[in-house]
Amino acid sequence: QAKSGGKNTYRFFDPEMQKAVLTRITLETELRHAVVREQFILYFQPQVNNLNQYIGAEILIRWQHPTQGLISPAAFIPLAEETGLILPMGFWVLEQACQQLARWAVDPLFAHLTLSVNVSAKQFGFPSFEHEIEQLLAEYKINPNRLKIEITESLLLDNTEVVIKKMNAIRQQQVTFSIDDFGTGFSSLSYLKRLPLEQLKIDQSFIQDILSNPKDAAIASTIIALGKNLCLTVIAEGVETQAQQKLLESMGCLTYQGYLFGQAMKMTDFEHLINTQAIAK
Ligand code: C2E
Ligand code: MG
Ligand code: MG
Ligand code: MG
Repeated sequence: QAKSGGKNTYRFFDPEMQKAVLTRITLETELRHAVVREQFILYFQPQVNNLNQYIGAEILIRWQHPTQGLISPAAFIPLAEETGLILPMGFWVLEQACQQLARWAVDPLFAHLTLSVNVSAKQFGFPSFEHEIEQLLAEYKINPNRLKIEITESLLLDNTEVVIKKMNAIRQQQVTFSIDDFGTGFSSLSYLKRLPLEQLKIDQSFIQDILSNPKDAAIASTIIALGKNLCLTVIAEGVETQAQQKLLESMGCLTYQGYLFGQAMKMTDFEHLINTQAIAK
């Protein structure tokens, strides 16, 4: 671009552009260090059943940046994917999940809990992914049914046949799959019969205005019916009010996640919640 001559040449030295490039390079370097130094922390967001009993949690990653504090995954997951750093980062998350499940397995109060882990399309696409899962299951000897992998519909856009094969191989190890942000992607309904799924997760964008927007209500209700007819569990995410939960329940939804039941929290806080519920019984 710099050689294109004329007035365009100076653009190469555009300070704004340079700053953007520098920021990206800095961020990339810092992210690389963060992976090596394990500067990440996992938060747990509770999931409940229709009796408001805790059934598990979704694991959500945050970056504990040395100077900028907690950074949200939306700000660094895309870069992690672009740079391939998602591979070690994602493995770390999966290993932490397995470690946690192994610790819980010996405690009757915790043994039934499931953990949902977000896996990005890039991460899933690495040839080693299914072997990583295999390796972790063997190492931690957990009940694989307790580990749920959340993928999005975008995963199915490329190499569909390869993806389905890989999913089947992982499902054969008894690990379950949930489709995250369901309804916002472009996957065709015909995939639903081909994929070894266990759960549909209704995207929070349909839940937010479900009380006031009949179209959102219709979409949520349709997803719930679809899940029921296909023998899949359906979880609604982003549930913030009791009225939303009531409506979803009347539509046949049986599991929920959202601020109404708890924000993403530190592991010790999540364990405290489970203990408190047990005492209340
Ligand atoms: P997601 O998997 O769809 O996660 C749900 C997001 O919605 C989380 O944001 C959660 O904190 C937020 N949320 C949950 N309940 C409510 C609610 O009632 N109201 C509202 N307004 N928001 C709610 P978070 O933690 O910032 O995560 C954002 C996204 O980052 C996730 O979306 C997921 O796609 C990605 N992500 C998080 N952790 C990981 C990870 O370990 N690996 C990968 N690959 N992606 C991750
Ligand atoms: Mg998720
Ligand atoms: Mg989601
Ligand atoms: Mg999302």
